[in-house]
Amino acid sequence: MHGTESFPEIREAVRKLCAQFPGEYWRALDRDRTYPTQFVQALTDAGFLSVLIPEAYGGSGLGLAAATAVLEEIHRSGCNGGACHAQMYTMGTILKHGSEAQKQAYLPKIASGELRLQAFGVTEPTAGTDTTRISTFARRDGDHYVITGQKLWISRAEHSDLMVLLCRTTAREDATKPSDGMSVLIVDLRDAVGNGLTIRPVRTMLNHATTELFFDGLRVPAENLVGQEGKGFRYILDGMNAERILIASECIGDGRFFVDRASGYAKEREVFGRPIGQNQGVQFPIARAHVQVTAASLMVDKAAAMFDAGEPCGTEANMAKMLASEASWFAADTAIQTHGGFGFAEDYDIERKFRETRLYQVAPISTNLILSHVGTHVLGMPKSF
Ligand SMILES: Cc1cc2nc3c(=O)[nH]c(=O)nc-3n(C[C@H](O)[C@H](O)[C@H](O)COP(=O)(O)OP(=O)(O)OC[C@H]3O[C@@H](n4cnc5c(N)ncnc54)[C@H](O)[C@@H]3O)c2cc1C
Repeated sequence: MHGTESFPEIREAVRKLCAQFPGEYWRALDRDRTYPTQFVQALTDAGFLSVLIPEAYGGSGLGLAAATAVLEEIHRSGCNGGACHAQMYTMGTILKHGSEAQKQAYLPKIASGELRLQAFGVTEPTAGTDTTRISTFARRDGDHYVITGQKLWISRAEHSDLMVLLCRTTAREDATKPSDGMSVLIVDLRDAVGNGLTIRPVRTMLNHATTELFFDGLRVPAENLVGQEGKGFRYILDGMNAERILIASECIGDGRFFVDRASGYAKEREVFGRPIGQNQGVQFPIARAHVQVTAASLMVDKAAAMFDAGEPCGTEANMAKMLASEASWFAADTAIQTHGGFGFAEDYDIERKFRETRLYQVAPISTNLILSHVGTHVLGMPKSF
């Protein structure tokens, strides 16, 4: 069944690790909205979160395609990579745009697990998807930046040592163009909390450890600036392509999880004296889900290959994320329907995964914004904003 897949050894190793974290583990965490510390530690110890870090900095130096195999298997196994996927793509901002001193200071420790880089701070309550409207401001004061403002939906901030933060260093109205004047800072959360940073958890319909951040005069050393001041938006965009491709691979894993579970259940469950899967009204949606997940996974593979070849892949990353998130959602809905009442029972893990996979049509970028990108940038139709 897994015969022709890419990175078979990696997948096999991830599946083995995930087998130690069965449904009961995730259900208990979900009930209390607690963080899967043990699971994340096991992935870190096995080196799966540092696949993208070059060998020179202690990682395994593989490409994004290998990372997608890791996340897909995590999700196919019924686990969830949302607790730790940011470590993979956030690191890229430091790797691609950081100074050699920053790379030496952070990357080996991230690879070894000594430092956790799980938080990525972009979204703000009033700016929404229009990132150029962010207003969290870093004012230069001697050899520090002083940060004031607010972020929302910053996941894993309570379970991370570092955060890659996007903020304004020039107000939008004073910048040459709206996307200028934003900068990336590495924030050491261990020093920050209680010294100008307050983290408040936000409870959501899924267990995602997301939070709201309040900055009130937080001082960050100027040496923590990544790249050039004012050019941060470009650095973040680069990381966002990786993020979208990786999250698309999680959706593929979710989709396969639902198809595996639904087809398995449809073969076993007998009603009216025959397996429910013998009824084409039950069988065909599952087959359709499989077709859609398989097609979407080709787009994910293409986007990852382009990313790894250093080619511009914004459009493909977006398309992969959209197709994969829609395929996993259709598969989720089909799995619930196939399970009848049992689809709603916690013990089957379908309802939990259903809630989890719904997120990906909104975050990290919502479907409408992807369609708008394709409509205007690819097809040349007039812009709506
Ligand atoms: C659980 C969770 C975890 C998250 N984790 C992080 C994180 O770690 N770091 C981080 O920075 N962010 C994070 N986010 C934020 C996430 O990226 C945003 O929620 C997402 O980008 C959508 O932005 P918004 O919520 O502000 O929606 P809005 O921008 O307010 O949009 C609301 C709706 O309107 C639609 N819309 C808006 N403008 C247009 C338009 N011009 N045309 C058509 N439709 C439009 C959108 O498609 C969307 O459906 C997280 C969000 C969630 C829910």
